[in-house]
Amino acid sequence: MKDFGYAAPKNVGEAIGLLAELGGQGKIIAGGQSMLVIMKQNMLVPEFLVDIKGIAELDYINYDKKKGLSIGALTTHRAIEKSPIIKKNYPVMSEMEDNLAVVQTRNWGTIGGNVCHGDPAGDPAVVFIALNAKLKIRGTAGEREIDIEDFYKDYLEVDLNPGEILVEIQVPPASPHTGVAHDKLMAMKGDMGIVGAAAFITVNPADGTCVGARIALSNVASTPWKSRAAENVLLGKVITNELLAEAGRAASAELEPPADVHGSSEYRKAMAEAFVKRVAQKALKRAQAQG
Ligand SMILES: Cc1cc2nc3c(=O)[nH]c(=O)nc-3n(C[C@H](O)[C@H](O)[C@H](O)COP(=O)(O)OP(=O)(O)OC[C@H]3O[C@@H](n4cnc5c(N)ncnc54)[C@H](O)[C@@H]3O)c2cc1C
Repeated sequence: MKDFGYAAPKNVGEAIGLLAELGGQGKIIAGGQSMLVIMKQNMLVPEFLVDIKGIAELDYINYDKKKGLSIGALTTHRAIEKSPIIKKNYPVMSEMEDNLAVVQTRNWGTIGGNVCHGDPAGDPAVVFIALNAKLKIRGTAGEREIDIEDFYKDYLEVDLNPGEILVEIQVPPASPHTGVAHDKLMAMKGDMGIVGAAAFITVNPADGTCVGARIALSNVASTPWKSRAAENVLLGKVITNELLAEAGRAASAELEPPADVHGSSEYRKAMAEAFVKRVAQKALKRAQAQG
């Protein structure tokens, strides 16, 4: 590994100031769980690392019934997995975290680092897309918000300008008559998903029609993928098993997934079909269970 400069600012203002001074030479490191992997592979050779892991003001989980959930970017995966507030109001997030990596990685890796790494195989992004989350980003020009579904540009490429820091992930309040589910195909529990999917389904309790559908897939494209085709199959209809199968087929049909040692493109398409059907079915059951 090539030598690099290093500093650990104590707050967000200091970190932004330092990144501005470094003028594009500085790279943020949080838990380092992804950064160190790509540095060891020489995919990234930073001149200077700005270590934000110790900035306590970005480590929090807040919930308000009207405003929803706010998670500081430096919150660890483990804190999300174990949070009673999250278990109660957004159980899908605890379930997703329970299947993410091993406990050592969850103890140190941060949710902001995962989201900003831009790995299309990442689990949190698809769950946050299904939950319609927003990202709060801060830089020298001030603060801006972006829908997470617009954040991913290409493989390991996200909508962050040099010097900007992701400070918070905002999830809208849990909606009534709504179910959310996530699952992924893993060789072993905690492995990166070969294919993953998340679904958010809202039903009208009066007539059972689907009035809200958000479906996203991981590791099937160069970015996390929101399947409008699958959503359109479900929206406005009473969801049957045949319709769930059709949603799976619609999601699969719009994909041209990459192939790697874990699976061919055709295999990923087949798994996308199966996993969209599976998570939509689970989300529907959860929505219906609310009466
Ligand atoms: C063994 C192993 C197994 C794994 N399994 C899974 C898995 O099953 N599912 C899954 O989704 N992930 C998995 N991961 C990935 C892991 O979740 C991420 O590596 C981790 O969450 C990244 O967080 P970090 O704090 O370590 O980020 P870092 O590695 O420090 O940073 C990652 C990237 O984000 C940028 N960054 C970090 N924080 C910010 C911020 N606040 N604002 C702007 N940019 C920022 C950095 O500059 C860098 O580009 C695995 C990793 C390992 C090592």
